[in-house]
Amino acid sequence: MTLPSIDTTVTYASGAVTSSSTVLHVESLPDGRFAVLLAETACHPIDAAWPDQGADRAVLVFGTRRVDIEECVVGATDGLSLFLGSDVPVRKGTEGWAFVVAHIVAGEAPREGAAASVEVDEAHRQRVSAGHTACHLASLALNAALADRWRKDIPADALGHPNFDAVAIDVSSIGENCSTDTYRLGRSLRRKGFVSEDIDLAATGAAVNRVLGRWVESGAPITVRHAGAGLTDRRFWECELPDGSVSIPCGGTHAQSLTRFAAIRVALTLEDVDGTSVVRMDTRATVVA
Ligand SMILES: [Zn+2]
Repeated sequence: MTLPSIDTTVTYASGAVTSSSTVLHVESLPDGRFAVLLAETACHPIDAAWPDQGADRAVLVFGTRRVDIEECVVGATDGLSLFLGSDVPVRKGTEGWAFVVAHIVAGEAPREGAAASVEVDEAHRQRVSAGHTACHLASLALNAALADRWRKDIPADALGHPNFDAVAIDVSSIGENCSTDTYRLGRSLRRKGFVSEDIDLAATGAAVNRVLGRWVESGAPITVRHAGAGLTDRRFWECELPDGSVSIPCGGTHAQSLTRFAAIRVALTLEDVDGTSVVRMDTRATVVA
């Protein structure tokens, strides 16, 4: 019943959809299900600290059994207790804590020390990876389209434009071949120097789509660079765009190249949420058949 003292080794970031490993720990949960910790996994978990990309769909295979992984979440342990999802009480990198991928299964769990493998739904993974890549590109193109609306200096994005996406983001959510980002045009954004008056979202969206069209046409390669294979090791999404090489911290999964896409397009709409103007960017990726 020992809890691991090091992070789970994760292979999804480099594109793996299967993994074979050893069961390190099985914990009975209050709802009758089990949290299964493996030494290594290909299953992308949802991270409560940054939940933009959801969990993979996958099965856990042990002996002759195949069990659906009902949820896959980031957890953490100090060696005494296991905390899951939003119950994790510490930040990543906290001394004495290991961050782990918890595979939640019902009915039957493997024994500790047994061999177990993970098989991810590859088609679903590919659609979510395309959505995540499109999300990064759309936010960079949006920053470029809004670059001349800033009256003050704010931190720049990977292409050198004022990083509207980073300072205004409210919720980012990645789906299958799509993503949705919402941005608050509130008082705090205006104080940072953003001019939101008379913003023409149709023209802004058209400008974003022109940039995206050019980028998709370039067929640029994408790599995920990482310092190590542990769950909390820093990872970077990198792409050789025609406008320059970009490197963005990201723990998700991605398309391997822009040749995967026939098109990436956004639609921008303005909503009023409790008196604050919110820009909603719906991004849709059309992948090559
Ligand atoms: Zn990302």
